[in-house]
Amino acid sequence: RALNFNAGPAALPEAVLAKAEKEMMNYQGSGMGVMELSHRSKEFEEINQLTKNLLRNLLTIPDEYEILFLQGGASLQFSMIPMNLLEEGSTASYVLTGTWSEKALKEAQKVGNAVIAASSKNANYRSIPNPSEIDVSAESSYLHITTNNTIFGTQWHTLPEDLAIPLVADMSSDILSRPLNLSSYGLIYAGAQKNLGPSGVTVVIIHKDLLKRSRSGLPSMLNYQVHADSQSLYNTPPTLSIYLLMLVLQWAEELGGVKQLELLSKQKSALLYDAIDRSEGFYTGHAEKGSRSRMNVTFTLENDSVASSFLHEAEEYGFIGLAGHRSVGGCRASIYNAVPLENVEKLADFMNRFRSRN
Ligand code: PLP
Repeated sequence: RALNFNAGPAALPEAVLAKAEKEMMNYQGSGMGVMELSHRSKEFEEINQLTKNLLRNLLTIPDEYEILFLQGGASLQFSMIPMNLLEEGSTASYVLTGTWSEKALKEAQKVGNAVIAASSKNANYRSIPNPSEIDVSAESSYLHITTNNTIFGTQWHTLPEDLAIPLVADMSSDILSRPLNLSSYGLIYAGAQKNLGPSGVTVVIIHKDLLKRSRSGLPSMLNYQVHADSQSLYNTPPTLSIYLLMLVLQWAEELGGVKQLELLSKQKSALLYDAIDRSEGFYTGHAEKGSRSRMNVTFTLENDSVASSFLHEAEEYGFIGLAGHRSVGGCRASIYNAVPLENVEKLADFMNRFRSRN
């Protein structure tokens, strides 16, 4: 198996892949592979329900929240959120912490009036704005944040609290990596392909009160209430992706749940940040220390030529996906839940040895 540090789609737990391989031809004695099951069959309805139950237990999601499995990626949520939640005559507030929140804002502005409540753009998105600096009007329909910034490698560690309006969060790259206090949020969404499973399914967790905002004139496929009313089976769902999501959630539960995943993510990220901090400037972390992500570790080297020989040697060693996103440059190691601790130890060791040699 490759030492996979891709940013998404990303590594899946080996145990999940092995189980899926077994059930691919014959799901639980049905004589059909999972992909061949009707979405109206008893077998698939069970998969759909079990997946929801697992997520509800793992993230302690109260009954007042609906769980939806949608398509169109996290990117479609950039549009669906304002279409459903932005109230007539009101504005939506966005905190800009990187490329994805910029995109979310841009889509919201196509739907209605959306404004910037805080931004760390001037500091090249090295940090997360202090919650006290966020300018939120009580007139706003909601406040949108991106809890983990996949490209810049920053993460919210202190959330805005006591808001008078619903908090909406893009958790595509850090959902299920730490416990959540759901009551702080109105809506959470995440494309599955980083921490939850394969691409193709997007999880939306929405407070039932907010469902009332979905106007009946919206196209059905873009209406949260329609999906909630039909248990996410309004049309043909991405059955294989939901099945794999179920396997990943079972794996997470067996491992010890979100607390254990949080512990592991702290250990894994500490290994890489230690390698950066002890390198006496050989590696420079992109994020400010207080805003460092435990999911995407971004760093640069002295110049392009050293960075390119680092990436070249890393590839020869078997590491995949370490090149930084083009907007930041340098390197990025994505260490989502399924990336084994041993692989991160190998990477930290490789970083130390590369530094000694150069
Ligand atoms: N939001 C964040 C934080 C992401 O990291 C990504 C993808 O990398 C997206 C949104 C876009 O997700 P999708 O490709 O599922 O639309």
